[in-house]
Amino acid sequence: MKYCLLARDTDKSNEVANYIKANVKLEYDENIPDIVVAIGGDGTILKASHQYPNAVIFGIHTGHLGFYANYSADDLETIVSDINSRNYKIDALDILETTFKDRNGRTYTDFAMNEVTIVCPPRTLRLDVYIDNEYFERFRGTGFAISTPSGSTAYNKSLDGSVVDTSLSVMQLTEIAGINSNAYRTLSSPLILSSERTIRLEASEKGSDVFITVDHISYQIDQFECISVKYKKNALKMAYRNHESFLTRINRTFIISKE
Ligand code: NAP
Repeated sequence: MKYCLLARDTDKSNEVANYIKANVKLEYDENIPDIVVAIGGDGTILKASHQYPNAVIFGIHTGHLGFYANYSADDLETIVSDINSRNYKIDALDILETTFKDRNGRTYTDFAMNEVTIVCPPRTLRLDVYIDNEYFERFRGTGFAISTPSGSTAYNKSLDGSVVDTSLSVMQLTEIAGINSNAYRTLSSPLILSSERTIRLEASEKGSDVFITVDHISYQIDQFECISVKYKKNALKMAYRNHESFLTRINRTFIISKE
């Protein structure tokens, strides 16, 4: 069994990385590691998951407590012991799989832990929304975010989307600055859809240049044609010893004041 480290570039994260390196007894391998120790915050864990989607991720938070990190920098003995003894539990995380195309026929595929977005900030984007191949609405505005339950507390929450219980398998389609008037009408509220469905967004006008993002990764797509998004269960592996409940995570992040 092999492992590697991915750390946010801060003094605290580098200090934790040095401790892990000095104490973990597995071979170090950045090419095909079985375990990746991601040190920092949720952003670092997103990066680790995209770089090593098949590895077991041990997330250590070195700043404020995040949503994905299950281990604390204040208790490094626990994580070292769990890795060295191979004695840990696995939380299997759901993701969104996406495929998108430009008008030249070039096809891209990727996945998101938090969300897929399609945006065109400087222009009004015109998109036709299909759900399971059934036409739903014509959208005009800046774009859409499609989020997983674990991503519902990220960008989706800033868009006034709902926070979703992570024990549910659903995806959320949330508008980004949709235009709603007597001329243009969309649902406008966030729409929560079953994990069995497929969302497809098609350019309703030729020549749209857009950005598509999957978590922290962005693609600039000239002459965008369409994007489809599907749900995939149990795709990523997060290690933990003790689980914090979903409600506790929400409460300490958004409700309890630090004072
Ligand atoms: P980033 O700095 O890595 O992340 C931005 C912030 O989102 C950080 O504070 C991060 O926490 C937090 N975060 C990430 N996943 C989260 C989750 N599931 N629940 C709650 N908070 C979460 O930024 P980035 O590299 O550009 O993009 C990564 C993510 O940032 C995207 O997936 C998107 O969700 C989020 N984002 C948010 C907005 C917005 O709210 N307006 C705009 C763009 C992107 P840590 O500090 O623990 O890393």
